[in-house]
Amino acid sequence: MLVLVVALTTVIGRHPIPPEHLPYERLDLSRPLGLATGFQLAALRDDPLLCRGVLELSALQTRPIESRRTGPFCGLLNAVEVQRSTVPYSGAVRVTCPVAAALYLWEREVVAPAADRHLGSPLARIDHLGTYSCRRIGGGPTGRPSQHATANAIDIAGFRLADGRRVTLLDGWDGSPGERAFLREIRDGACGLFRAVLGPDYNAAHRDHFHLDMGPHGVCR
Ligand SMILES: [Zn+2]
Repeated sequence: MLVLVVALTTVIGRHPIPPEHLPYERLDLSRPLGLATGFQLAALRDDPLLCRGVLELSALQTRPIESRRTGPFCGLLNAVEVQRSTVPYSGAVRVTCPVAAALYLWEREVVAPAADRHLGSPLARIDHLGTYSCRRIGGGPTGRPSQHATANAIDIAGFRLADGRRVTLLDGWDGSPGERAFLREIRDGACGLFRAVLGPDYNAAHRDHFHLDMGPHGVCR
């Protein structure tokens, strides 16, 4: 037993456990995904200073957006505008700090490798339908505020590849085998990073986009 303990200690001492596997370590956006990445991302949700520090230490270029209330249940708090990421987006990305961090890891560690593997061409651009929008879930006059009301969500509609191809949720979800595998793999990969991931499997309202958010309700469909 003692020999085993000494042997294990020696191995761990020589090969320290990477920080992405340790829940108490601060998220490092330059690292690959690990066992504790989802936990480290979740820790950013209630800690604006921690989140800002994580972005500042990363290669993701963002600009803070001044916090302001824009309606009874709407506003921008702890939000940033993405200025430069690993790939361009179709439009401005103004989201909460935790969404920006999760999105950056998703595009680099999940979407880009999946595009290479399933579609045989590098990821060139991400098309989105919007982030901030002062509305309730479903768009009606009553009900819970949408995570979009606080820019805590983004709707992803499709992807451009370096060879010029375009993969959309609307056509690709039931498209070629490569498109189907790509879109399902990146949906599943998003579930380990975001709190809520809703796509075509959820309901008809999501047949043309993935809704990704960092709100309080965990769901993956
Ligand atoms: Zn949405």
